[in-house]
Amino acid sequence: LVQIIGYQSILPHIEHKIECLVESLKLHNITPHLRVIQVGDFAPSQIYVKKKGDFCCKMGLKFTLDHLPTQISQEKMLTHVDQLNNDNAIHGVIIQLPLPPHIDPDVLQRIDSSKDVDCAVYENLAKLLIGKPFVIPPTPHACYEFIKYVESDLSKLHVVIVGRSNLVGKPLFALLINHNATVTLAHSKTKNLKEITKSADVLVVAIGKANFITDDFIKEGAIVIDVGINRIINDTGHSKIVGDVDFDNVAQKTRAITPVPGGIGPITVASLIQNVCLLAQLKIDHKLKKKFDSII
Ligand code: NDP
Repeated sequence: LVQIIGYQSILPHIEHKIECLVESLKLHNITPHLRVIQVGDFAPSQIYVKKKGDFCCKMGLKFTLDHLPTQISQEKMLTHVDQLNNDNAIHGVIIQLPLPPHIDPDVLQRIDSSKDVDCAVYENLAKLLIGKPFVIPPTPHACYEFIKYVESDLSKLHVVIVGRSNLVGKPLFALLINHNATVTLAHSKTKNLKEITKSADVLVVAIGKANFITDDFIKEGAIVIDVGINRIINDTGHSKIVGDVDFDNVAQKTRAITPVPGGIGPITVASLIQNVCLLAQLKIDHKLKKKFDSII
């Protein structure tokens, strides 16, 4: 029997953690605050940013959007990030991607590593890689939660990830090996991709190609995690969102599969908001530690 694991299976558990964090922060008169920088009016970004704002609102966090004009200069952008870095009432800073072509994506590296809720800053990615993470990147975290939901002992699993981006594939590789899975990372230059994906107990796909993965890529009884978000025009001329996995073709062959929409996406948002709370909490813990250190 195929298990279709929607976000509803995972969300209550993360929401509960966030509620506890928000309550404990309240005792210190702190409302965790996420600040999102969006440059220009790229339509999908508007949707993603709104989802983050709505979830903050639902969970009792403060959310502010800094909507900057497309023509903003690199220098002004850096100054803006510096201002947010220096504001103690802000606990998480995100620069929504994609950026206009004249802005160097390395502006993300200007975000203070202690406010880097997306785990985009190299220092934080490096910490993840060596197995001492400061913050867990949201999309890989969402993938991990889904895998763990089906099989709690990751050492039993050979996971194949297709897609090696810095945002998804590479940090997910690090996260999963840190949790004892055996991981293969494939990409567009991988030879014999099907042979490799067919050896997977868990197949994670993050390539940005609509319905690319069909049943001939999959081992019978595999767990399939679909990260892709692709907008396509269907037969009736309407646009719809699909994943990188051809769900209808593949589902019957799997042990468990995540749908798109309604799978990884909402849990990515929840993981991000959890990070805002965790970093706010960490600030207090540091302060308390300093106070304690000065007493003894
Ligand atoms: P990128 O475009 O940065 O990376 C795509 C990766 O897929 C690359 O490593 C590329 O290989 C690989 N790839 C492309 N085509 C193939 C192919 N035919 N066979 C094997 N590998 C291939 O994308 P992202 O990682 O940023 O995003 C991937 C998808 O996930 C997108 O649909 C995106 O919208 C979605 N996404 C969803 C999120 C969520 O919250 N649900 C969050 C982030 C992304 P190479 O390196 O060789 O070019």
